[in-house]
Amino acid sequence: MLYVKAPAKINLTLDVLYKRPDHYHEVEMIMTTVDLADRIGLEPRKDGLIKIISADRFVPDDERNFAYQAAKLLKDTYGISEGVSIKIDKEIPIAAGLAGGSSDAAATLRGLNEMWNLQLTMDELAEHGSKIGSDVSFCVYGGTALATGRGEKIRELPAPPACWVVLAKPKIGVSTADVYGGLKLDGIKHPDTKRMMEAIEKQNYELVCQSLGNVLETVTFNLHPEVVTIKEQMQRFGADAVLMSGSGPTVFGLVDSETRATRIYNGLRGFCEEVYIVRMLGERNPLA
Ligand code: ATP
Repeated sequence: MLYVKAPAKINLTLDVLYKRPDHYHEVEMIMTTVDLADRIGLEPRKDGLIKIISADRFVPDDERNFAYQAAKLLKDTYGISEGVSIKIDKEIPIAAGLAGGSSDAAATLRGLNEMWNLQLTMDELAEHGSKIGSDVSFCVYGGTALATGRGEKIRELPAPPACWVVLAKPKIGVSTADVYGGLKLDGIKHPDTKRMMEAIEKQNYELVCQSLGNVLETVTFNLHPEVVTIKEQMQRFGADAVLMSGSGPTVFGLVDSETRATRIYNGLRGFCEEVYIVRMLGERNPLA
């Protein structure tokens, strides 16, 4: 069995610039991977089939699974007769704004590149990934990046200044399509993406905290008021800055002291089932 890590991402910024004629939103996002990861196990099959195995009943076990789609894409494109069993050990909460499914697809692409000896570059894998979903390209590389277009154009950035990240996911799943559908572009407050890039370049933690921004927050807050409560609690317990990731509902707080991170973690666990303390992963993913 070949094992590949599939880390979650958080959005330090998420901006929507306009709606394109092809109905996608033109976005500008700064994303970074964190050390909360699913584990993908890949095993060759002689019968040529693609099988998804997961103990998590919310993970689709057929062609709806993004990891399945990744395997199918490589198998069809490169005429591979062998099949694969894809074992998904889920650690990343589902429908949480943490790109769990996209990261599983990206890890499957990286792993099968190795297992089937395809010798594709990261850029080629990311190009394939963009056909599965807008966040898959970023998840192929990992690390920290500016994503533009519909999310598939990736420019690598340095790692943000080191800090602790407390993740809290309320007990609801959010549909990304519903949130984008509810977004009104008139009069929205755009995050300052350039300022965030500058903050990262200069390793200025305070400026990173001041520059967090996500245009989807207000949409999800209106749909699910419990997300606002989590954000307020995280602020009350002492996070330096708090933001919702992706289309939510996961909220994350940045903290530059482990003691305070632990205090926030303990405080939030009282009324939020899924809480994690993680670090940002400075480095890009290895090829497999
Ligand atoms: P993003 O942040 O990219 O919007 P997300 O974290 O909000 O994604 P996912 O966890 O990727 O959302 O799940 C979204 C939907 O995708 C789920 O409802 C699930 O049915 C489907 N899905 C497909 N493949 C997977 C997978 N490997 N793991 C989890 N969900 C998957």
